[in-house]
Amino acid sequence: MADRAHGGGFYLDHAATTTMRPEAIEAVTAAWTSSFGNASGTHAVARRAKNALEDARERAAALLGTERPHDIVFTSGGTESDNLAVSGAAGSSGRRRIVVSAIEHKAVGSAARALERHGYTVSEAGCGSDGIVTPEHVEAVVDPDTAVVSVMAANNEIGTLQPITEIVAVVRERAPGAVFHTDAVQAFVGSPTSLASMGADLLSLSAHKFGGPAGVGLLATAPGVRIDPIVHGGGQEAGRRAGTSNVAGIVGMVVAMEAVERERVRFESVVGAERDAFEVTLGRLVPGLVVNGAGSPRMPHFSHVRFPALRAETILIRLDQAGVFAAAGSACQSGAVEPSHVLTAMGMTSDEAAGCVRFSFGWDAAPGDGERAALAVAEVIDRLGSV
Ligand code: PLP
Repeated sequence: MADRAHGGGFYLDHAATTTMRPEAIEAVTAAWTSSFGNASGTHAVARRAKNALEDARERAAALLGTERPHDIVFTSGGTESDNLAVSGAAGSSGRRRIVVSAIEHKAVGSAARALERHGYTVSEAGCGSDGIVTPEHVEAVVDPDTAVVSVMAANNEIGTLQPITEIVAVVRERAPGAVFHTDAVQAFVGSPTSLASMGADLLSLSAHKFGGPAGVGLLATAPGVRIDPIVHGGGQEAGRRAGTSNVAGIVGMVVAMEAVERERVRFESVVGAERDAFEVTLGRLVPGLVVNGAGSPRMPHFSHVRFPALRAETILIRLDQAGVFAAAGSACQSGAVEPSHVLTAMGMTSDEAAGCVRFSFGWDAAPGDGERAALAVAEVIDRLGSV
């Protein structure tokens, strides 16, 4: 967790951004020195950068079950990948409906809404009180005029894992030819994620959610899926995303991806056990605590809890003062906590939603972290209850 990296505090906000893995830091640093050239150039220094870039592309493609390295488009992160998926796939389809789930990250939701200005209709697939978007929710809104369907693999607030393969099957039946995108930005670190196993056409990742650097991501594309660029310029990434490649960042991301694959079992067992211990201890010490999504398949490092009769803003301030770093709703630029569209979609009242806090553990969690963190949180809650 974080006591080590954060001077005695408990960093429980790994879903916002996680600590970089040492092997990724090493790879980025080495690439800055040895592969610093502009990968679009022609001389030897540029070719070294280009080789590092294409080697990273091959390794990323192998990890994500795409058939060809060409099917990986490197981007500046999850937001750009999501925008490229939604807008880029809609552009060439000739169809007019975009379907997104009600619990998507704004990088998907707002990209879809922006297409309304260009004559598209956006339909939202609902979500149950368990935080799951079912194939039936999607079936209710897709039709043959659907160009793009986007349903995230794991939700970024409560961590629930969505039944992507079943949803894809419904989309293939009800809207043949529609492009299916999944935002796997949160899923990748703790749940097997590949285009092939999910049956998706497009899949977004962001390096800083799994131990790579911030500002780097990718969009994996299935063969034959056309995406029009949203960033125009020098024609890099085979014309799908212009701009000088962030070679060092990309190399660091792919090294982090390989570490995730190697350590997935450990992540699920060790980090999952700390999350479970956190919830058991917190549940024992905080009367009335509710764990959201507890009965649903969910990411092993997420704990989204509701403290009845308290407000998240107050809790987060006191936690921060006590050296416990967590989150609520979606952080926005101003740092303000907005009412969560995810919790609203799950049917929570605004009062219920206002008392929810997300704690998220990291790949570096060690035995005992979960219980220690719960004790620290419970102490803050106890003091709040008595004021
Ligand atoms: N999608 C999801 C599910 C996320 O959680 C995030 C980041 O919080 C993003 C997209 C955006 O990724 P990035 O921060 O790399 O732009």
